[in-house]
Amino acid sequence: MNLDSLGELIVEDYESMLGEAYKSIKPTEFCDRFEVKKVEGMHEGNKTVITNFAQVVQCLRRNPDHVARYLFKELASPGNIDGDRLILTRKLPSAMINEKIGKYVENFVKCANCGKPDTEILSEAGKSFLKCMACGTKKEIHNL
Ligand SMILES: [Zn+2]
Repeated sequence: MNLDSLGELIVEDYESMLGEAYKSIKPTEFCDRFEVKKVEGMHEGNKTVITNFAQVVQCLRRNPDHVARYLFKELASPGNIDGDRLILTRKLPSAMINEKIGKYVENFVKCANCGKPDTEILSEAGKSFLKCMACGTKKEIHNL
C-alpha cells in the first residue's frame, strides 16, 4: 500500500464516522446535550399552557407521558398533553416548571455515576431502572 491510498482510506473512514455521528444527533439537533431547554408558555385563565413541551421532552429523550406524570405530581396540578403542548390546570410561574424539569433531569435523565445524559429507562419485574449507555451504570428509580 502506498501513501496515497492510505490517505484516501483515512478520509473515507473519517467521512463515514461523520455520517454516523450526524445520524445519531439529527433527531435532537436543536438540543444542547447538557443544557435543559426552558419551557415556553402562557397562562390562559387559571391554566398554564407549555407550548414547547414536545420539544423539551424530545431533548430529554424521554416519553412525554412520563415527564407529564412527573410534573402533574410535583406541581400538584393535574393536566393533559394536547399535541405538542402540555396543559396544567393551575396557574404556575415558568420558573417553577423549569425547576421541576431540572429535578426530573437529575432523577430520570442524568447518570448518577458519570453525569452524562445518555441514558434510557428500563422496566424489569415491575421496577424501573436508569441505564447509562456511557458507563453502564444501572440504578433503580422511582416508578411514577
Ligand atoms: Zn454513566
